[in-house]
Amino acid sequence: MTDRYVVAGNPVAHSRSPWIHARFAQLTGHDLEYRRLLVPLGGFADAATRFFADGGKGMNVTVPFKRDAFRFAGYPTLRASRAGAVNTLWIDRGHVHGDNTDGPGLVRDLVANLGWRIAGARVLLVGAGGAARGVLGSLLACRPAALVIVNRTVARARELAALFADDGNTSGCGFAELAGVDAFDVILNGTSASLFNEVPPLPGRLFAGAACYDMAYGDEPTVFLAQAAAAGARSCADGLGMLVEQAAESFLVWRGIRPPTEDVIRELRRGSAGDAQPDAPEQRTTE
Ligand code: NDP
Repeated sequence: MTDRYVVAGNPVAHSRSPWIHARFAQLTGHDLEYRRLLVPLGGFADAATRFFADGGKGMNVTVPFKRDAFRFAGYPTLRASRAGAVNTLWIDRGHVHGDNTDGPGLVRDLVANLGWRIAGARVLLVGAGGAARGVLGSLLACRPAALVIVNRTVARARELAALFADDGNTSGCGFAELAGVDAFDVILNGTSASLFNEVPPLPGRLFAGAACYDMAYGDEPTVFLAQAAAAGARSCADGLGMLVEQAAESFLVWRGIRPPTEDVIRELRRGSAGDAQPDAPEQRTTE
């Protein structure tokens, strides 16, 4: 029997995960089926229970169900517990396990693919939502000199920094407080602002000389990256590499092998996955 996997979300028609995992399966010679599962709001636990009861092997989880998936997983990994969110579920001897691969996916894209240095760097993480919380532990594990979290709702930035205070030199603040702060080596946009063609109100001088990353991605550079490039950023990258790397990490968890990602990222940039999802209604996507 072919092993069955899904990505569960709402909406989910835009997801490129079926295409990515189909490519991983080809590249590793694994036989698997991977589909989209549109789950009604409020219906995650029922849908996941049914999927695994019907013999499903593993599930990726996207917006807005990552916290539901964390509650659903009887056995979350340490990093999933720290993130309070799960994007990868699987069943092993009747027990549902959960992991969060966003952090390792981001770090792999930054360090291995892009060659950016996090160790010893001054890092600004913009946003304090699910994505920021999911990647914070992995970023701090790289030992940056300082990691400042800035968020529109200041209390969320401070709470997040307090939650990870034992993991490294991290602090939370509001945008107004950045006025007197030193430059950063790396600026990571973990807000959803780009999805609405908006930019977080960062002082323009911070972009000059910094490596700037937007976890969002799309067919064109995001507004955040366009602003960063115009303000003199050293280099710019969007979250497509993170998308593929977090998927590769899920594949590793499920299948015990890390698929090669370089060609998959290149093919996605060329728009190959578009062939597999003619119904995709959105240009900017979220996983
Ligand atoms: P959440 O809804 O959990 O959090 C949204 C965050 O964005 C909050 O910090 C919110 O601030 C902030 N925000 C929203 N709009 C604005 C704005 N106009 N100005 C400033 N701040 C704003 O979303 P997620 O954390 O789940 O997702 C964030 C981003 O990460 C999305 O773009 C998503 O696509 C991307 N992502 C990419 C992945 C990948 O693999 N490439 C994986 C996961 C996420 P406040 O707290 O004040 O509301």
